[in-house]
Amino acid sequence: MENIKDKVIVITGASSGMGAATARKLAGLGAKIVLAARREDQLKALVNELGDNTMYVITDVSKRIDLDNLIQQAIAKFGHVDVLWNNAGIMPISFFDEGHVDEWDRMIDINIKGVLYGINAVLPHMLERGQGHILATSSVGGLRTSPGIGVYSGTKFAVRAIMDTLREEVAQTIKVTTIFPGATQSELGHDITSPKIKALYGNLGNMPKMDEEAIANAVVYAISQPGNITINDLVLRPLGQT
Ligand code: NDP
Repeated sequence: MENIKDKVIVITGASSGMGAATARKLAGLGAKIVLAARREDQLKALVNELGDNTMYVITDVSKRIDLDNLIQQAIAKFGHVDVLWNNAGIMPISFFDEGHVDEWDRMIDINIKGVLYGINAVLPHMLERGQGHILATSSVGGLRTSPGIGVYSGTKFAVRAIMDTLREEVAQTIKVTTIFPGATQSELGHDITSPKIKALYGNLGNMPKMDEEAIANAVVYAISQPGNITINDLVLRPLGQT
């Protein structure tokens, strides 16, 4: 695809789920992909599958130095970064009265600070080049709340606010896109420990869910637009989710 081929695209949360599915799709369209996450086995297997125009960097997005290193490694290998997709996230949801404060902290560190550190690492490079595209994954939980998802939802509202403000600041130069997925097939939620949530949602197993491919298609749509067109927000839900 014309606007995707040879683009250097960095994806956090690329070891599984929608990040991995999108990496496969973009690599198939000729992009150069930099995969970031913590689990090396998954990243290595994906690089082996996708070939020479792909690399991985072990990255914990809750660590600022890891994001700086990720962008530096991407530039060292491919010369520049065209696109950064801040996609890594976790969802160990619970009710407030269960007091899972450690899980609240982890969600804030990964879902919010991870996005901020990614922006901070890549922004000077993109501003210097006078072009670039930053995406982040919020959630339909970043548009409205429901019982049990308060902190997760709060982190995703924050992603939306951060990306909206970033767009206001850099709109002349850099494209800024927020993705708001509804329920999607992935490993998300496997770390839920709350008995109340498990009882309520059965570990989310029975909800209608989109295929990860739906998100990959949305990201390709956003990235493949002509230079003078930018997609601000993409909201996707499986049929049946309100
Ligand atoms: P997955 O659990 O399959 O993927 C999450 C990814 O984030 C993994 O690659 C994981 O890799 C990575 N990750 C988690 N913590 C860190 C960390 N500290 N540093 C670096 N990477 C990390 O789920 P999804 O693909 O569904 O999730 C992707 C994004 O989509 C998340 O932001 C999620 O909140 C959002 N989302 C998902 C929805 C869904 O229904 N699936 C709906 C709405 C939004 P590793 O463990 O190897 O580090």
